[in-house]
Amino acid sequence: MFSKILVANRGEIAIRIIRACKEMGITTVAVFSEADKDALHVHLADESYCIGGPLSKDSYLNMKAVLSVALATGAQAIHPGYGFLSENPEFAGLCEKNGVTFIGPPAEVISKMGDKAMAKKTMQEAGVPVIPGCGLVESFEHAKREAEKIGFPLLIKARAGGGGRGIRLIHAMEELESGYRSASSEAQSAFGDGALYMEKYLKPVKHIEMQILADNYGNVVCLGERDCSVQRKNQKLIEESPAAILPEETRQKMIEASVRAGAATGYRGAGTIEYLYDPASGDFYFMEMNTRLQVEHPVTEMVTWIDLVKWQIRIAAGVKLDFAQKDIEPRGHAIECRITAENPYQNFRPSCGKIEMLFIPGGPWVRFDTAIYQGYTIPPFYDSMIGKLIVYAKTRDEAIRKMKAALCELIIEGIEHNADFEAEILSAEEFENSTYTTDFVAGFLG
Ligand code: ADP
Ligand code: ADP
Ligand code: MG
Repeated sequence: MFSKILVANRGEIAIRIIRACKEMGITTVAVFSEADKDALHVHLADESYCIGGPLSKDSYLNMKAVLSVALATGAQAIHPGYGFLSENPEFAGLCEKNGVTFIGPPAEVISKMGDKAMAKKTMQEAGVPVIPGCGLVESFEHAKREAEKIGFPLLIKARAGGGGRGIRLIHAMEELESGYRSASSEAQSAFGDGALYMEKYLKPVKHIEMQILADNYGNVVCLGERDCSVQRKNQKLIEESPAAILPEETRQKMIEASVRAGAATGYRGAGTIEYLYDPASGDFYFMEMNTRLQVEHPVTEMVTWIDLVKWQIRIAAGVKLDFAQKDIEPRGHAIECRITAENPYQNFRPSCGKIEMLFIPGGPWVRFDTAIYQGYTIPPFYDSMIGKLIVYAKTRDEAIRKMKAALCELIIEGIEHNADFEAEILSAEEFENSTYTTDFVAGFLG
């Protein structure tokens, strides 16, 4: 087992990883930007080092700076969290080359799945159903020809996409050219890669994803699903496990497909396979694989009692999974609400500033993963998510009631946030009866 790990991230996920390390008796090294000297992860880690300016590219995305701290402090492994360098094959390779373990899958697997067009091909070959569409389009003319075959509506997507960026919905041929150009330039500036592919736009569908864990000995276990269909602009707002309306037979098929996908890619560590599920036909289609820890991993932890971060660390250290597929029996129901510093009633305008007052909800089976504290000033440089409120209960109805009560208890003064909006969603009929699909929030906002 490692005795020292560098945490290459910030915010709630850095805290989550530091906590797992503490419980495992592992010393932690934090890195931070000049904007984050008062951040909680800097104080909770055993050692902390400033690695550059406030912009991510100057600090959290600076591969050499992060790796140098690991080498100088004798950290044997790096946990990348999510976002930042977590899905960067060059960084994973650089770590391995320097004798530092990257806590995640091998660089080749990240690179294979990071190209979303190639990932679809790999999955199709492994017998996993994929969304109908085409591979990479080389030019606008090529896109036009493929669009005729796919039909409308369709989605243009970035090969390197993530966080909902580089996606365009196209209803008719007249919209294709402007969509193609704007998706490509958005992807170019966000990911340094403007390459695009296209697929049929499926509607109404649920976003259902499967969590897998794979060790170095060929064992792949699927920990069940999360329903992440409460989304705004392709970004998740609320996630839950299990997905109440998923028929058991389909769930089993999706679990088998996910285990096959893990085996076919030579996966290692924690990964998520995202699918679209069509409740009308009962069909499901592979959408993409995220080769990292997911923001919404806590809902799976609550229903399986498996600590995903600890298992990521153990697997990276060469420990064998000590449970098999037959041991996975999710119990009860978990829901997560992402708390963001945004005003939902003013077009989700981001809000920064000082937390004047903070009250964190409590009680049995209420968890709040956050990095904010009273007196903390939220810097304007990073993601707007400031916490994740997670509840667990025996039944879905009880979990919903618990979440509503917890959202009501949560007090964050000094900035604007979305807790009231999350509570409104929980009260909507579509949420209550679990029929909500990915277009639900847009309809709700009117
Ligand atoms: P999840 O499916 O776990 O919710 P998201 O797609 O919402 O993941 O992304 C989680 C975080 O990582 C967000 O902060 C998002 O902005 C960031 N992120 C996702 N993909 C990328 C990427 N390719 N490059 C940089 N940041 C990314
Ligand atoms: P990202 O890498 O940004 O997470 P995804 O490919 O996972 O991108 O898509 C993000 C979201 O967009 C999905 O969760 C889903 O709601 C929607 N989406 C993606 N592909 C399709 C599709 N073919 N039809 C309908 N909705 C889609
Ligand atoms: Mg996705």
